[in-house]
Amino acid sequence: MITFNELNLSDDLMRSIDKLGYENPTLIQEKSIPSILEGKDLMGESATGSGKTLAFGCGVIERVIPKKGLQALILTPTRELAEQVRTEIDNLANNKKLKIISIYGGVSINPQFAALKKADVVIATPGRFLDHLERRTVDTSKINLIVLDEADRMLDMGFIDDIEKILSVCPKQRQTLFFSATFANRIEELVRKHSVDPVKVLAKKQVDPEKMKQFYYDIPKNLKMSLLIHLLKNESSDLVMVFCNTRKSTDLVVKNLRANKIDAIAIHGGFTQNKRSQAMDTFKIGKAGVLVCTDVAARGIHVEHISHIYNYEVPADPTDYVHRIGRTARAGEIGQAINLICEYDHENFSRIFREFDFEITKIERPYIERVELILPPRRPQRKGFRGRRR
Ligand code: ADP
Ligand code: MG
Repeated sequence: MITFNELNLSDDLMRSIDKLGYENPTLIQEKSIPSILEGKDLMGESATGSGKTLAFGCGVIERVIPKKGLQALILTPTRELAEQVRTEIDNLANNKKLKIISIYGGVSINPQFAALKKADVVIATPGRFLDHLERRTVDTSKINLIVLDEADRMLDMGFIDDIEKILSVCPKQRQTLFFSATFANRIEELVRKHSVDPVKVLAKKQVDPEKMKQFYYDIPKNLKMSLLIHLLKNESSDLVMVFCNTRKSTDLVVKNLRANKIDAIAIHGGFTQNKRSQAMDTFKIGKAGVLVCTDVAARGIHVEHISHIYNYEVPADPTDYVHRIGRTARAGEIGQAINLICEYDHENFSRIFREFDFEITKIERPYIERVELILPPRRPQRKGFRGRRR
């Protein structure tokens, strides 16, 4: 293990890192920061929670000069993540007077026009940034650093065309960094197309079975909610996240938990930005012990002291599973992931085993009191929409 001192960071940046209380760089930081500071293009792959933000954040802080126009653009898949990255870069910039803003959809575009004129660093979701490009309300001519954070997820979410358009209008003379928890072939293709001689950094850490225990219950569908409620009431835990595959089941779960006197709060893609932020805050400060959410809403969010992850449903994509369980057992803490599986989860569950070498221990169902399921009111479905809303 090396120290931050060995990374040749500026005194300003060292002070910010000190202030944040970080003692040593994480593996991805240690392996990627030197190349980033040399100005090389790079693709960095490491697990969720391994500190990728600080890795590219150092590049941003060391490169950008205050009041010289928009020089660094960071693209993230979701609004929550954009906010989170902005906060983290803000913390790193502590001693440097940089104008760092976030730009995303779902909020009024008007205040963004003026903010963009003064910004040195922009953290944006692709859709809204493209919107500004098309309106010519953003000047890209000074951009010399672009970061694609959670590149895999951005592609999953269908942002490929937006990203291609954005990258193609930014100056060719620039540094491009791709960060991701997993690198699918499609990403390698994107990297090849939009970077020069990229350095490839892998810092994949397997889930540490000593710190992170994984379990499952195999139960009939009609007992799932009862088991979840039973476990939430009987397991002692710190903060808890319950993952669902759709908005609909998120609504169902939160409603039933509350009906059973469990302090639960929900976030999914159907809520306004305001509501999502409020819910995250309530959860972070521990006012609600249980956050019920979909993958989209939770991606990249870092909350400390999550001791239990429940999968009310098993995700169809095994990488989503890894992201879910990556919310716990962070920074040396211990955690548990508990899967509630029934008939309809079996296929997704076996896909996880095919792709990862995880040890997931079966637990026999305890005696549980059956609760009566309360169905939430139907939300009007938009016509023509196929597939699952998350
Ligand atoms: P990733 O993007 O890889 O999922 P993040 O950048 O969100 O991970 O970092 C996860 C958490 O680890 C954050 O709370 C961050 O503040 C913390 N962190 C980052 N670097 C370090 C470090 N060197 N030492 C301790 N904690 C760190
Ligand atoms: Mg991240």
